[in-house]
Amino acid sequence: MITDLQNIKNIASEKHQENIDFQDFLKFQDGILLDNLVENINKKTESSIDCTQCGNCCKSLMINVSEDEANDLSQHLQTDRESFDATYLEKGSNGLMLMNTIPCNFLSDNKCTVYTHRFAGCKEFPAMHLPNFKQRLFTTFMHYERCPIIFNVVESLKTETGFTKDTN
Ligand code: SF4
Ligand code: SF4
Repeated sequence: MITDLQNIKNIASEKHQENIDFQDFLKFQDGILLDNLVENINKKTESSIDCTQCGNCCKSLMINVSEDEANDLSQHLQTDRESFDATYLEKGSNGLMLMNTIPCNFLSDNKCTVYTHRFAGCKEFPAMHLPNFKQRLFTTFMHYERCPIIFNVVESLKTETGFTKDTN
């Protein structure tokens, strides 16, 4: 299992064309079989990677925040919405609310300090546990070099599907 982010970045650069070819290959695979394969690989991968040694998603992603989530977290932090919004949020170009810092305000020592009140986007990422993997190829490969879980799932998937890797 490769978890070093610099190492992953270097490999991602070397595998740029291979990954484009792999996405084309995946588009012709059976969606249900693929979901089962990804689910099994993801279980093994997630259990071998300690997110608290990484935290890269919380250090690098823009996090969307809904009204309900802002209400919930402001209550948890015992602050009123006005102060909460002024301290933690900004409006994106589409008018939706976003966390106003990257890395996230709530990350400390690679751990989420508001874990039980974290946002839907945080709970979902890296989304390898979700069905319809074929519909999420773009976002999966967008985060391939950001997330060691995605990187390792994709690399195992190349082997498990019999994809011919680029040996050049
Ligand atoms: S709320 Fe927690 S899980 Fe979400 S980005 Fe911030 S630190 Fe990470
Ligand atoms: S989900 Fe991925 S990017 Fe986020 S902490 Fe875990 S391994 Fe790192």
